[in-house]
Amino acid sequence: MARGRLPRAVGATLAAAAMVCGSLIGSGAASQAATPAQACTGTVCDDFETQTGTQPSGLWQVSYQDCQGTGTATIDTSVAHSGTRSVRINGGGNYCNHVFVGTPTTGLGAQIFARFWVRHSTAQPQNHTTFVAMHDAADNNRNIRIGGQNGALQWNRESDDATLPAQSPVGVSLSTPLPVNQWTCLEFRLDTSAGHIDTWVNGAAIEGLTVDGVPTQDVDSQWLNRTWRPQPTDFRFGWESYGNDSDTLWFDDVALGGSRIGC
Ligand code: CA
Repeated sequence: MARGRLPRAVGATLAAAAMVCGSLIGSGAASQAATPAQACTGTVCDDFETQTGTQPSGLWQVSYQDCQGTGTATIDTSVAHSGTRSVRINGGGNYCNHVFVGTPTTGLGAQIFARFWVRHSTAQPQNHTTFVAMHDAADNNRNIRIGGQNGALQWNRESDDATLPAQSPVGVSLSTPLPVNQWTCLEFRLDTSAGHIDTWVNGAAIEGLTVDGVPTQDVDSQWLNRTWRPQPTDFRFGWESYGNDSDTLWFDDVALGGSRIGC
């Protein structure tokens, strides 16, 4: 779906939207879409169609925390979920071959919703890997991470290495692998007041990727071992590997907001 290409409003609202969703409004190509695109309701909505350089710019900053190796982030015109552009991540094995593309989360409010489409080419390995990271100002700026372990999606808290779900066979079975070689819609809700998490894959809630405040064995009992009220200061997508596992990933139609955005 060519999300985010419909002007969603007129007048002052349009002007305001254009400021935060530059590429959303910029193309004005809705009439060319085969099916009507649903307007993106996020505070940030980027289909990367206005990116004309080699590296992501504008809203986005490319970063290599601590060290820089072989990881790269480039604008790719050969693979896209919408339009003709996406961000391609060449993620290397081992920590320093990481790369992230990020934007601040200031102004999003207590409920942070994210929606992005991701396509990757190598099945999630047994080792721990990450493709989304957020610095947490309430946790000495350590990262809140989304990635995989034991072949399935997981959340990870860098400071104490807690995982969601627990990496028991039952816990892992309550998560799901990130599909390979197809565009997948990932969504999450981070309730910064209560420390709760919801995660959806192609619109379906994933039990193993849920923190509801009530400790559930194999799911969030380990996560709830300490009081956690995150204050993410950024949203970064890319790749980081704590073993020797590499992957090539594409991200497109990235949206952040204060209510659920949907696929
Ligand atoms: Ca695009």
